[in-house]
Amino acid sequence: MRRNILLGSCLAIALGTVGCQDQRTEPTAPSTGTGAELRLQSTTPGRLGLKRGRLKLPPSARVTDQYFAEAARRAIDPDDYVCPPSTPVIDWFIGEFEEFIIEEPFIFDRLYNDLWADVIPTYEALFFLTEDTPQEFGYDGEYTHVIQKTHRDAKRFWDIPSDQIQLVAMKGSMLLDTDRVAAAYELPFMPPFFGLSEEDALDSASAVRSLVLQSEVLDGGNHPLFSFNAFAFWTDDGSLPEKIVMGDGLLAGYEAVGFGDVAPQAIYAHEFAHHIQNQNDYFNDPLATQGDPPERTRYIELMADAYSAYYLTHKRGATMNRKRVEQFLQVFFQIGDCAFDNPGHHGTPNQRMAAAQFGFDTADEAQKQGHILTSEQFHDLFVAAYPELIAPDAV
Ligand SMILES: [Zn+2]
Repeated sequence: MRRNILLGSCLAIALGTVGCQDQRTEPTAPSTGTGAELRLQSTTPGRLGLKRGRLKLPPSARVTDQYFAEAARRAIDPDDYVCPPSTPVIDWFIGEFEEFIIEEPFIFDRLYNDLWADVIPTYEALFFLTEDTPQEFGYDGEYTHVIQKTHRDAKRFWDIPSDQIQLVAMKGSMLLDTDRVAAAYELPFMPPFFGLSEEDALDSASAVRSLVLQSEVLDGGNHPLFSFNAFAFWTDDGSLPEKIVMGDGLLAGYEAVGFGDVAPQAIYAHEFAHHIQNQNDYFNDPLATQGDPPERTRYIELMADAYSAYYLTHKRGATMNRKRVEQFLQVFFQIGDCAFDNPGHHGTPNQRMAAAQFGFDTADEAQKQGHILTSEQFHDLFVAAYPELIAPDAV
């Protein structure tokens, strides 16, 4: 059983023949995955009639910010997306990926096409991981302290009920743990690759472990192919814990391009903002429920950017330097919106920066008065400012 992506197309990347095609096959997934299908990857039907990377989830599941994973898929399989990777962190991802596929094409083919190993850490993070076991962030645990501190501080800073929000680490190194990998293979959502019997799941898990160990590139699973993602997660029916998931590979990418000092806090703060939106029911705001899906997505994402910026620079929040956060956001905002000629998709970088600057400015004002706005007060200010924020690139 194999996934649809062909080794040849990946080698095309490896050989540097990636080109920008004319047609647009822009991802259409909203920022919050809405139920049974979560698009993590491309949409070309596979030889089994499946679509590569459509993870099946319970209908009540909500997952934000899949554009990290989408960006990675575009880097792997440019035939499906015309949006060429062009940001520093995606260039870094491609470099890591090229090294793997050039050095070890057989191992790549087995892990990616036959065993779908790249989605196993995501499945585990969504369905199994909790704070009941110690969580380590970064390949060597180097971000554990700062992310856990941000988790505590953001919960204290914002007034929403947040004790229930769990912070978990998505790690490729879990691929060496056959019990954990087998549990993911038994999840019922995506036969024939998943939904395996206990015996078959253990067989596949053993194969994954041995391939990862055999590899001289994957560093025991510490590779972005497995963990280039971060998201907020919850279910409408409360059947699974509310979570913020931080992937090691994404953190490694931003460290590699010089933003290891700000990316963990900034990405976390953006994901926490999506929990604010969920708790306060902002996904049912008029602007989140009316208009085209890209416009609704833009509203939600710009609001999350604004909340994040407010927290990051507030003197009682993360107290980060505004200029430094802006430098990070210049890079961060490029990754989510490859369709720059479609201003409705996640917001253009200009709009996202305008939303962030609104957050910075609002933090400045609040600080003068020595207080922290409630999440509702901030929301109301954001809604009032919204037409102005999107004006630079309004449709
Ligand atoms: Zn988001």
